[in-house]
Amino acid sequence: MISLLKHSSRLAQHALNLKRNIACLAALPETHQMLQKTVRDFADNELIPKAAKFDREHLYPAEEIKKMGELGLMAVAVPEEYGGTGLDTLAYAIAMEEISRGCASAGVIMSVNNSLYLGPILAFGNEKQKKEYIEPFTTGEKIGFFALSEPGNGSDAGAASTTAVLKGDRYVLNGTKAWITNGFEAESGVVIATTSKALKHKGISAFIVSKDLKGFTVGKKEDKLGIRGSSTCQLIFEDCEIPKENLLGEEGYGFKIAMKGLDGGRIGIAGQALGIAQASLELAVDYSNKRTAFGKPISKLQIIQQKIADMASSVESARLLTWRSAWLKDNGKPFTKEAAMAKLAASEAATFCSHQAIQVLGGMGYVSDMAAERHYRDARITEIYEGTSEIQKLVIAGSVLKELSV
Ligand SMILES: Cc1cc2nc3c(=O)[nH]c(=O)nc-3n(C[C@H](O)[C@H](O)[C@H](O)COP(=O)(O)OP(=O)(O)OC[C@H]3O[C@@H](n4cnc5c(N)ncnc54)[C@H](O)[C@@H]3O)c2cc1C
Repeated sequence: MISLLKHSSRLAQHALNLKRNIACLAALPETHQMLQKTVRDFADNELIPKAAKFDREHLYPAEEIKKMGELGLMAVAVPEEYGGTGLDTLAYAIAMEEISRGCASAGVIMSVNNSLYLGPILAFGNEKQKKEYIEPFTTGEKIGFFALSEPGNGSDAGAASTTAVLKGDRYVLNGTKAWITNGFEAESGVVIATTSKALKHKGISAFIVSKDLKGFTVGKKEDKLGIRGSSTCQLIFEDCEIPKENLLGEEGYGFKIAMKGLDGGRIGIAGQALGIAQASLELAVDYSNKRTAFGKPISKLQIIQQKIADMASSVESARLLTWRSAWLKDNGKPFTKEAAMAKLAASEAATFCSHQAIQVLGGMGYVSDMAAERHYRDARITEIYEGTSEIQKLVIAGSVLKELSV
C-alpha cells in the first residue's frame, strides 16, 4: 500500500511538473523570440545560399563561423565574464535549430564548440583553465574539439584504450581517437583517456590538449555521407606530453565529465535535427504549392497534405521535447532522460521529414539542384553521434524503469 501511494504521488508530481513545463513553453520569452529571428535572418542570408557549396566541396565555412562568433553563437550559454553570450540552454537549442535549418555542417561545428568543448571546461575547469581555454574560443576565430570515441569503441565509452601516464609534471598520452568533429581546424580540445585501467570507469580522466603539442598529429579526414562542411578526423597521440595542470577536474573524473557533456550536447543535437526537419518541411510545402499535376498544385492533393501533416506534427512534438529538456537544464532539474528523448525524437523527425520531402519533390528531390537530398544525407548522422538512438533508448528505459517500478 505504501509503495502504491509513493507510486501515485510520484506520478502526480510527474504530472504537475509536466503541466508546469508545458505552461512555461506556451510562448517563448521575448529575448528568445528576438534571438530566433536574428539567427533565422542570418541563416537565410548567410548560410542557405552557400550550404550546397560547403557540402559539395567539403568546405569548412570559416567566414560564416566567424560571423556566428560575432553574433555570440559560438558560446551561447557561457557567462559574459569569460567572453560568452550569457544566455541559457533554451536560447542555445533555438539557435542550433535556426543555424542547422540553414546549414547542418555549421550546426555541428557550433554544437561541438558550445556543448562538448566549452561546456566541460566551464563546468569542471579551474579559473586559470577557464581564462586560457574559454575566451579565445568564443569568437569563432578558434574552435575546440571533444575526443571520446576511438576506433575500437564508440558506444562503450568507458573502454577508452588511449592512456595518460603521469611522469613528473607531465601526463604522457598515447592512443588514437576516431571520428573527431572539428579535428582538422580546432586549436585545442578535451581528450578522454585512461589513467588507471584497474579502476575501470573511475580510472578515466579528461585533459585539455592543444594542437601544437609535440606528439599530436591529425590523421585521416573522413569522407562522409552528410555534414560534409564539417571535418571529422582521427587524432593520434604518440608520447604526447601534456602539462599536468591541463588535467580537467580531478583524476578519475573523465567519465563523469564526458557523460555530463553529452547530456547537454544531446539538446544541441536535438536542435540540429529539428533544423534539418524544419528545412525539409518548409521545402516540401513550398514545392507542393508551386508544382502542378493533374491541373492543380499538388498541395491540394490529400495524400500530399497527409505527408505535410505528419511532418509538421513530428517536428512540433520533437521541438516541445527539446525545449522542455532545455528548460529543465536551465532550472537546475534533472534532464538526462528528457535530453535523450529530445534527441531520439528530433533525429527521427529529421530522418522522417527529409525522406518525406524527397517524396513530395519527386525527381527533383533526388538531385542536388534542390536541398532535399542534402537534408536527407545530413539527417542520418543525428541518429548516430552523441549516442546512437539505441543508446538513447537505454538511457530513457533506465530512467523510466527506476521512476515507475515499485
Ligand atoms: C560524423 C561523425 C562525427 C562524430 N563526432 C564525434 C566527436 O566529435 N567526438 C567523439 O568522441 N565522437 C564522435 N563521433 C563518434 C560517435 O559518437 C560514435 O560513432 C557513436 O557513439 C557510435 O559509436 P560506434 O560508431 O563505435 O558504433 P558502435 O558503438 O560500434 O555501435 C554499432 C551499433 O551497435 C549498437 N550498440 C552498441 N552498443 C549497444 C548497446 N549496449 N545496446 C544496444 N545497441 C548497441 C549501436 O547503437 C549501433 O547501432 C562522431 C561520429 C561520426 C560518424
